[in-house]
Amino acid sequence: MSRPATDGAALPEAPPFDVVVIGGGPAGATAAHDLARGGRSVLLLDKAGRIKPCGGAIPPAAIAEFEIPDHMLVAHITSARIVAPSARIAHMPIRTGGFVGMVDREGFDEWLRERAAKAGADRRRGTFLRTVSEPDGTATVTYADPDHAEISVRTRVVIGADGAKSQVALQTVKGAASMPYVFAFHEIVRSPERDPASADATSCDVYYSSAHSPDFYGWVFPHGATTSVGLGSAQKGFGQRKALADLRRTAGLEHATTIRREGAPIPMKPLRRWDDGRNVVLAGDAAGVVAPASGEGIYYALTGGRLAAQAADSFCRTGDVRALKLARRRFMKSHGQVFWILAIMQRFWYATDGRRERFCSICRDPDVQDLTWAAYMTKQLVRAKPAAHVRIFCKNVAHLTGLVSA
Ligand SMILES: Cc1cc2nc3c(=O)[nH]c(=O)nc-3n(C[C@H](O)[C@H](O)[C@H](O)COP(=O)(O)OP(=O)(O)OC[C@H]3O[C@@H](n4cnc5c(N)ncnc54)[C@H](O)[C@@H]3O)c2cc1C
Repeated sequence: MSRPATDGAALPEAPPFDVVVIGGGPAGATAAHDLARGGRSVLLLDKAGRIKPCGGAIPPAAIAEFEIPDHMLVAHITSARIVAPSARIAHMPIRTGGFVGMVDREGFDEWLRERAAKAGADRRRGTFLRTVSEPDGTATVTYADPDHAEISVRTRVVIGADGAKSQVALQTVKGAASMPYVFAFHEIVRSPERDPASADATSCDVYYSSAHSPDFYGWVFPHGATTSVGLGSAQKGFGQRKALADLRRTAGLEHATTIRREGAPIPMKPLRRWDDGRNVVLAGDAAGVVAPASGEGIYYALTGGRLAAQAADSFCRTGDVRALKLARRRFMKSHGQVFWILAIMQRFWYATDGRRERFCSICRDPDVQDLTWAAYMTKQLVRAKPAAHVRIFCKNVAHLTGLVSA
């Protein structure tokens, strides 16, 4: 790929790519797909070899906006059960007839990468090493191929979509090193024999209790033949393995066969900058865009990838480096308010078991349920039922002040 130089070092290949995308998860694969489909020359680099640890829940907005085919969905979820520290359960059916899709990341990510390749992206396997800005404004990206050979390519734009603790972000964007994280840990287990239409197969269970997480939550997400059982916490000394074993017992999965056991950090705050002012723009976990309180990141990674592609395309077209800022600006305009509210919710409601108990009580309210599902499923701010907002506000205040007991 690279031209040999007279002194033996590798020179970057020419002509340059329009865009080099680092990372082939939902963010990077979407960015590469959109750019290739729009006629840009794109390199999609992914190191491969590891299945992304993930609960795999995606909203209908992701399925519709990113044209995810039904065969990618391994389960259709039609309700949630919110379990309080006291073990009381709030049943949250989706009353509109919609569903939450479940994807297995092994097949899902590969399908996204293949879609990008079919659209014309040059898909390569390798590990990103570094990016260097050249005097003419282009970047030289160097990666190690599967045989550990260093390859350098030149590009007009780099999209850093290499996930949490992104090397691209750490090398190029100020503030990336101080990102707060929740460390999430889950086990993929074989699902017990059950009717596929049963509540256990069609309901996502969320456990709020300090026994399962001192500052986040635990989950049991059915994926058809398998189930993801997991939890997260930002506390370093928290005994996740013991808590997970406890969660499996509580959920009746202690004897289920364990297929995989894995963990990964979940970023908890969008970075203040997603570009380096020269030729790099970030997307997805690399930019810190996972919803606080829920840890939902797939939809936001798909969206971030699309917005980074638009920003990169605009930069290639105009040469105006300010175009790279469009990705963050557009994202925060659509989702910044929700992220802000969710961060406050997480800080307040996930702080003690007493508050968790009250939070779960609030989840029993049908108005709260309908608004929560509508916001999650459509990713729009729900303005349709002003009276419901007022009722919810009053009930929230009543719970907060202790006027209503849990
Ligand atoms: C345990 C757990 C459960 C979760 N559950 C859910 C859930 O149910 N629903 C939800 O919406 N979100 C969930 N999330 C969050 C979600 O998984 C992420 O937000 C999402 O995967 C982010 O996508 P991404 O493309 O930005 O990054 P990633 O999916 O992390 O993809 C990054 C890609 O970059 C590649 N890469 C990394 N480093 C390099 C390198 N140096 N060179 C080349 N390639 C590289 C990797 O191979 C990978 O393919 C969960 C996260 C965890 C950890």
